[in-house]
Amino acid sequence: MGKKIEALRELLGVVADLTAAAALLGWDQQTYMPSGAAGGRAMQLATLSTLAHEHFVSDEMGAAIEAAKAEAKDLAPDSDEARLVRKTEHDYLKEIKVPSSWVSEYSRATAMAHQDWEQARAEADFKRFQPHLEKIVELRRHYADFFAPYDHLYDPLLDDFEPGMKTAEVKAVFDALRPRQVELVQAIFEQGRPVDDSFLHLNYDLDKQWNFGVEVITAFGYDFKRGRQDKAVHPFTTSFGLDDVRITTRLYEDYFSTALTGTMHEAGHALYEQGIKSTLGRTPLEAGASLGMHESQSRMWENLIGRSKPFWKAYFPKLQGVFPQQLGNVAMEDFYRAMNKVERTYIRVDADEATYNLHIMLRFELEIALMDGSLAVKDLPEAWNTKFEDFLGIIPPDDAKGVLQDVHWSGGMIGYFPTYSLGNLMAAQLWEKIGQDIPNLEEQIERGQFGALLGWLRENIHQHGAKFEPIELLTRVTGKGLDADPYMRYLTGKYSEIYEL
Ligand code: ZN
Repeated sequence: MGKKIEALRELLGVVADLTAAAALLGWDQQTYMPSGAAGGRAMQLATLSTLAHEHFVSDEMGAAIEAAKAEAKDLAPDSDEARLVRKTEHDYLKEIKVPSSWVSEYSRATAMAHQDWEQARAEADFKRFQPHLEKIVELRRHYADFFAPYDHLYDPLLDDFEPGMKTAEVKAVFDALRPRQVELVQAIFEQGRPVDDSFLHLNYDLDKQWNFGVEVITAFGYDFKRGRQDKAVHPFTTSFGLDDVRITTRLYEDYFSTALTGTMHEAGHALYEQGIKSTLGRTPLEAGASLGMHESQSRMWENLIGRSKPFWKAYFPKLQGVFPQQLGNVAMEDFYRAMNKVERTYIRVDADEATYNLHIMLRFELEIALMDGSLAVKDLPEAWNTKFEDFLGIIPPDDAKGVLQDVHWSGGMIGYFPTYSLGNLMAAQLWEKIGQDIPNLEEQIERGQFGALLGWLRENIHQHGAKFEPIELLTRVTGKGLDADPYMRYLTGKYSEIYEL
């Protein structure tokens, strides 16, 4: 590596360390921190994120990027070093537009909002959260304005999570997808084949659930020497470097699938991070290509694997061994159907694959309305319920099961939700390619073997970190840009069998 690029890497390492320290405080906030510590923690997070921001946008960094660019000219354009310089410059040019004062105000506002959101959700009291969300929407509008001119006010927000994507593109993909998905869901409800999932709601010992989840994700390849799992209100994955990638989960005694599918989901995120090439550590490439690509990994392990018949052929006998009273007399096929029961549910994270995207499209539309001012925050609960009835045919009984259910807005993450659906599409697209490259994949999964699959993902996706933009990476791997057809093929195939459509 050239001297100038090496010097740039050293500066970037400081930013990465500060960011990792802030992430550790954030992890603690959502797992073990006593609730009274919120004020102090908000200050600490604001200090660290301000420092990281100031380091990254310093004149020294700007000069180091210029020097490294000159050196990178002679390198292959797709080499790690050339891509590092390119990505760093891209992020730098973006971030110098955001003043430090905004960063610390935003960090403080979101830390305080998170605490009150937890309380508001517990008490189903939107009013408690409302002033925080008003502040966050206002801060997010300011943020978008740093990047004016834009095609859409939402574009700069979306770009933070899904580099290169535009609001209009997402709208177009969703508009094409929505009628096909609604049609499928309607066909399922009209067919009316009863699926009994009552045995998932018996009493399941929490420790046994926890241990079963650990066994599954260990088989997937999650490395507990470079990670750990804890409990959190809203499950998440966080990383303080490639060798410390942590996940969280939540457990319910009276509903079996929440903890396991959540654990598999977060492990999917973590496998991506743990698989990034070690030489990309402490740089801006030490991340996924985008949140959509990240979700493609979490949803692949949770849904395409964890809710598949081959997976349960391998794991249902083991699960029966752990819970003989609850599942001893249940047939594998019935369990598989129960795990894939299509229902009109209030809670996004509990939604089945057939209805899931409808939950996302609802949030996407509300976010756009909040941002462009056509919807006031105080009217959000009503707008939520109205749209919910439109999309899913039911009205949430209270705001805890409605507008307050997700952590994202309390963290300021407006622009994040569409990435879940983009991830669904990318996952199905990658899955078709994996099926071509590993012809006996199904038999491997039926034997509980995930090594070849993880190897494929490591080779084609994980190792690259954020070297490529998401659509660029998808195109390199599958030969095509974003395409909703594989996802609809997958959904239709799966549910036609389960519901005999
Ligand atoms: Zn996720």
